[in-house]
Amino acid sequence: MVKYQRPRGTKDILPGETEKWQYIEDTARMLFQDYRYREIRTPMIENYHVFSRSSGDTSDIVSKEMYDFHDKGGRHIALRPEGTAGVVRAFIQNKLYGPDTPKPYKVYYMGPMFRYEHPQSGREREFHQIGVESFGSKSAEMDVEVIAMAMDLLHQYGLKHLHLALNTLGDRKTKDTYCKALIKYLEPHFNELSEDSQKRMHKNPLRVLDSKDPRDKKFVAGAPSILDYLTPEAKAHFDRVKQLLDALGIKYYVSPDVVRGLDYYNHTIFEIMVKSSAFGNGFTTVCAGGRYNKLVHQLGGPEVPGIGFGLGVERLILVMKSKHLPFPKANPLDAFVVNIGDKADIASLKLVQDLRNQGISTDRDYTGRKPGSQFKMANKLDAHYTLTIGDKELKNNSVSIKSMDSGKQVTVPLDKVAKHFSDVVNKDFDE
Ligand code: ATP
Ligand code: MG
Repeated sequence: MVKYQRPRGTKDILPGETEKWQYIEDTARMLFQDYRYREIRTPMIENYHVFSRSSGDTSDIVSKEMYDFHDKGGRHIALRPEGTAGVVRAFIQNKLYGPDTPKPYKVYYMGPMFRYEHPQSGREREFHQIGVESFGSKSAEMDVEVIAMAMDLLHQYGLKHLHLALNTLGDRKTKDTYCKALIKYLEPHFNELSEDSQKRMHKNPLRVLDSKDPRDKKFVAGAPSILDYLTPEAKAHFDRVKQLLDALGIKYYVSPDVVRGLDYYNHTIFEIMVKSSAFGNGFTTVCAGGRYNKLVHQLGGPEVPGIGFGLGVERLILVMKSKHLPFPKANPLDAFVVNIGDKADIASLKLVQDLRNQGISTDRDYTGRKPGSQFKMANKLDAHYTLTIGDKELKNNSVSIKSMDSGKQVTVPLDKVAKHFSDVVNKDFDE
């Protein structure tokens, strides 16, 4: 028989691992709630042009990495490679800029993204992002809220020594004059650049700065800095962002070579990097984002500014594991019910059901194990309590409850077990 393999660049996330994912997601949800961001869920497939018009035809995402196809009705569809464009499409389509919606309109999402990449550690073809978008505020305070929230989230996961790389792409005029200067700088080296960069240099020279090809990277260090081309307005915005970050005590590194791989950004852009042995002790970007004041309009909506970030969950987990950061205990078991003898079987099944109805996570044997191996199983599953029902207990209508932590044992009437047990568990949890 053929044994099917999962597609290259995808992963099965199994029990043992999924608890870590739940912890990552739950922590993010709680934090987003504090910052007043609400969840949005958009389709995993979108019209191809939602991405080609936003990320840009010269971006890696669109030119090389997109999973796209024509469906049976001939529509050009793409699996989403990133979260922002679909959220912007939904923002426009559902008129979330209308008079009855909060301003700014703040949302978060979490879910899979798809890019046809060369798979390697921290680079998958299906990967997951947690991201936020905030629409309707141009203010530097909004930029700083989004950056502070990203930093806060990563700190909550226990990450320290975060490297916040900050840059600005300024406004239209900034970008135009800077791109001209960049082309002028790159032109004499045209033949030394990678084929990709040669193709993109005149259309979008920023892509050359974002290239990972060593032939291009050589020229990044000596390239003109966008900071020298900022219009007074763009400079004022950036200065204010830095001032506010200073006020919040958030350390950043102004990094003019960070330009981001997507075309829709302007003004503030940032990447949060961490050094990790999971990436050869080098820095890796776990979270990245920026402002996009023209994107809503570009995709057919009104002129509404926006800013957001996306965090790579696989990369985050790799980094957390390499630093031995704690994930809360996976799937804790409150009670294991051991039943001895056939007669106790029904009583034990009822008891398990009662306990579960009380919200106590409970397990028992389903494969006919002998009492001895049931006790072993309770130990192996790390149950907090082991409850035993046998002939003796049945006769007395009682159950014996043993705390696996203290070794203490008590006998409790059968009809009071669930109540007693939930009192004990609650007391334990309160202490
Ligand atoms: P890179 O430069 O590493 O290719 P990118 O600029 O393409 O990253 P973004 O589009 O900014 O990445 O996505 C935001 C985050 O999502 C990244 O910082 C990273 O953590 C994660 N990410 C991006 N692509 C992948 C992938 N193929 N596999 C796993 N995580 C990814
Ligand atoms: Mg990429």
